[in-house]
Amino acid sequence: MGLFGGFLEKFKQGLAKTKEVFTAPLKKIFSVFRKLDEATLAEIEEALIIADFGVDATDKIMNALRVAYKKGEIETTDKVLEFLKKDLKKRLVEKGNDVLWAPQPPTVILVCGVNGVGKTTSISKLANQLKKEGKKVMLCASDTFRAAAVEQLSEWARRLDVEIIKHKMGADPAAVVYDATDAAIARKADALIIDTAGRLQTKENLMKELTKIRNVAAKKIPGAPHEVLLVLDATTGQNAISQAEHFKAATNVTGIFLAKLDGTAKGGIVVAIKDKLDIPVKFVGTGETPDDVARFNAEEFVDALFEE
Ligand code: GDP
Repeated sequence: MGLFGGFLEKFKQGLAKTKEVFTAPLKKIFSVFRKLDEATLAEIEEALIIADFGVDATDKIMNALRVAYKKGEIETTDKVLEFLKKDLKKRLVEKGNDVLWAPQPPTVILVCGVNGVGKTTSISKLANQLKKEGKKVMLCASDTFRAAAVEQLSEWARRLDVEIIKHKMGADPAAVVYDATDAAIARKADALIIDTAGRLQTKENLMKELTKIRNVAAKKIPGAPHEVLLVLDATTGQNAISQAEHFKAATNVTGIFLAKLDGTAKGGIVVAIKDKLDIPVKFVGTGETPDDVARFNAEEFVDALFEE
């Protein structure tokens, strides 16, 4: 169990659909004691593909399984479950699942993502979670292109009782950041979470906008932004991966907040993300309320996938 363990139930909640469509049929195969044969291997492979582990990660997992089978390490179906658990944990393990904290507060967390992925909700979850961990959190409404975005974020700030810095709609997003960093220093905040515009832009525009925001933040607070979280919608499957590639090309993304895991049976996307992007998933959204969030932890995630 990692430093931030204790999210097993949240992961189970988030993986409920995946467990129905992926884990349950697999367990049925494994519960019938028989020699592992090509037909069974094909069924396992199909389950991985259906759950959106992605072609590459599926190939890697299947190859490892075949090697173990040939070596005689696994001969029967009842041994596959333990093998898969171990293999997936190994595949998902990474040192960097924790938020990258600044050596001195405030830590600046920049949040980006395309409209509709669940960005605003995820920011509220992040604020709520950090607050529960005893941190003083402030929000910065830099998605000034949509009045609704500022209003929605303000409503969350009110409900969670955290301070928000905002300007009028259409204001310069970097100017809001300028004020918010000042406020975060003055009020001794531990974390400043910055919302950014989520229009699907060209890489150049996106880069320009994010770079401007980053520069303003860095001038006020050394090393800011310390964390750049990209929100992805788990229900969009492989599409989420291409969105991530778009953002990765525009700025240095340091972590992923995977929203709406509960809304999909394709929970294998977590493995596909690790395999394809090598950006750590740091948070997972497991429902619509601010409490529906888990700090990512490979051990608990895989246990939740296979445990009752
Ligand atoms: P934004 O446009 O990216 O800011 O998206 P919103 O935060 O407004 O979210 C869009 C919709 O997704 C809303 O209906 C949210 O309640 C919903 N949503 C966000 N995160 C999650 C999640 O983890 N699980 C579920 N089931 N719904 C979510």
